[in-house]
Amino acid sequence: EQRKLQAFADKEAITRDGFRAEIAANIGTPEEAADLVAQGAEAVGLYRTEFLFMSRSEMPDEQTQYEAYKAVTEAMQGRPVVIRTLDIGGDKELPYMDLPEEMNPFLGYRAIRLCLDRKELFMTQLRAILRASAHGKINVMFPMISGLREWREAKALFEEARASLAAEGVAMAERVGLGIMVEIPSAALQADRFAREVDFFSIGTNDLVQYTVAVDRMNERVAGLYDYFHPAVLRLIKNVIDASEVGGKWTGMCGSMAGDPLAAPLLVGLGLHEWSMAPSRMRRIKEVVTKLDRSSCQALVERVLDMDTAEEVRRELELFQAEAS
Ligand code: PEP
Ligand code: MG
Repeated sequence: EQRKLQAFADKEAITRDGFRAEIAANIGTPEEAADLVAQGAEAVGLYRTEFLFMSRSEMPDEQTQYEAYKAVTEAMQGRPVVIRTLDIGGDKELPYMDLPEEMNPFLGYRAIRLCLDRKELFMTQLRAILRASAHGKINVMFPMISGLREWREAKALFEEARASLAAEGVAMAERVGLGIMVEIPSAALQADRFAREVDFFSIGTNDLVQYTVAVDRMNERVAGLYDYFHPAVLRLIKNVIDASEVGGKWTGMCGSMAGDPLAAPLLVGLGLHEWSMAPSRMRRIKEVVTKLDRSSCQALVERVLDMDTAEEVRRELELFQAEAS
């Protein structure tokens, strides 16, 4: 059994004609990182740091955060880790922060908006991440970016944190990749502009769908309209991957679409570089990708992008899946 697990862990997700998908894991705590390598993760594509903040009664200080980020980084033994800065607000509350109640929390004071407003909080996290970067390969990404101004402001604060640590003589990695989550349509539409400045993108389909089709991701009464196979969502995803390709950058996906076997041929066809998902999904996705041909997936993408509705897309993907197996 141990040997079988290891054989799987060493397996890569490469299509029959040589396209490689990097298979990464989404995690919320350092504990979840402990045996990720044995489970076959090639990277952590999304470390949701908000759980570190939500699981206690007061703000975690720089040292506490540093230790958590370091633990994740060391557990990955040199493989890349994407740490997402605090994504609080919306459906994620922080009791000790006393945030005002809002009519539309998903459109309100949250994530990078909150961090750019409460700079001491943000700087503490950036310093902790930079200190942890001495122990492995860390990338940082900012959530809920809606435009270039926010990205540039966040990046400037990151550089400021780096400069202050350097002045203190603290050890850090020479290079830490900086990227954005693409989970708001405005960011997806401006991907060409972002591609000139960021090191990478990570598409958050969970929120991207919510904001594109105006469907609250928590509201069951409208759940029937919530679908990442909506052609408008697919166009946005394609726009991001194409723009990153042109700019020589890489694109990941950390929303739940990345772990859906039905979506895999589409994502291979679109050329998604890094696929980040719940660890329990990794094995299946690796199996599926290994059996695909990039060229027939590209043809599938062309057919699908010409369709009118999510239902048509879904039917086409099911047909493709049935023929492939
Ligand atoms: C997303 O929005 O797709 C995402 C990965 O982030 P979260 O689910 O934490 O909002
Ligand atoms: Mg999100």
